[in-house]
Amino acid sequence: MHADIAVLPGDGIGPDVTAAAVTVLRTLARRHGHSFDFHEYDIGGIAIDRHGEPLPQATLQGCQQAHAVLLGAVGGPKWSDPNAKVRPEQGLLALRKGLGLFANLRPVRPHPAALNASPIKPHLLTGVDIVVVRELTGGIYFGEKTRDARGASDLCSYSVTEIERVVRSAFKLARQRRSYLVSVDKANVLETSRLWRDVASRIGREEFPDVKLEHQLVDSMAMHLLAKPREYDVIVTENMFGDILTDEASMLAGSLGLLPSASLGDGKVGLYEPIHGSAPDIAGKGVANPYATILSCALLLRHSLGLHEEADCIERAVDAALNAQVFTNDLATGGRGVSTQVAAQAVIEQMQAHCYVAELRD
Ligand code: NAD
Repeated sequence: MHADIAVLPGDGIGPDVTAAAVTVLRTLARRHGHSFDFHEYDIGGIAIDRHGEPLPQATLQGCQQAHAVLLGAVGGPKWSDPNAKVRPEQGLLALRKGLGLFANLRPVRPHPAALNASPIKPHLLTGVDIVVVRELTGGIYFGEKTRDARGASDLCSYSVTEIERVVRSAFKLARQRRSYLVSVDKANVLETSRLWRDVASRIGREEFPDVKLEHQLVDSMAMHLLAKPREYDVIVTENMFGDILTDEASMLAGSLGLLPSASLGDGKVGLYEPIHGSAPDIAGKGVANPYATILSCALLLRHSLGLHEEADCIERAVDAALNAQVFTNDLATGGRGVSTQVAAQAVIEQMQAHCYVAELRD
């Protein structure tokens, strides 16, 4: 197949990890007989420096016209003045909005070779395979904000439509996996949560009777996620609860450098990025872990291009590279890790060894 992929390297380690991931995608395309065209655009701090705004029109248009978007990371100390008029993160928020993305998927699958990198006991982590689906566009982060000398308030609101569309995405995903969905809310206290629970129950009853749905309060979910993570499969929740739970869940995998994410909407154009930031402390050193970005490419192939075998191929190759102890510094002991490029090359080599292609076309 042919696909146009917009690549937004961004700031800090963003250019390193996206370059590594694009190398993997190019090799995969050659092996499987696809033609991928990569179009690079500025976003974040570098876009402020070059164009005076974090999301130039050309970037948004390029992304809207692409089949999928691969992003590195945005931000860094150079642009971190909280009083600045334009900030790198505004570029990411505007891009999500411009692409109509409302569901953020974060798979967490601790790798057996990296279990010791997690602060959680290894026996609790074996076999964990969770996807958290976080609502991205509503809730308290986007409600009206007030502040005066006596106090401040943040409004939390959700429409039925906003809840329906994200819950439906989570049900669909659950159906492709273990057909088990946990919806997280705070229905004992919040009215938005009571609406969330009603809508989730109705969608489940009417459209997904084959998927087992459970409701869980966010405080107990925070506890269970660490105490018995193996029990969960797909978890869906609103914006702020999702923000907190996904960071908590990331600790199950040990390193931020291993966790991919996908942001999806109704259309096919999805945004794929590692969950980590621009890591200014290691930027420009060529030592960033590229696996999270490479695994984000697997999500891109699966969710935007429908290339399931190819997505599995990338995930198997990353697994094999980790099994072979090809670790960057964040995973290796004593700072003896390999470079970003060496790690990406290891994935490419493992692809040749572990991915069966019916008839090699190259
Ligand atoms: P960070 O994720 O950039 O870094 C946290 C720690 O993890 C650092 O020690 C870093 O070296 C390490 N780390 C992160 N990714 C790594 C990788 N691939 N390989 C090896 N080590 C890695 O978070 P931060 O330091 O809080 O934020 C730095 C900047 O990134 C800030 O400007 C922040 O706003 C921005 N940020 C951007 C995004 C995004 O673009 N989606 C997300 C989070 C933070």
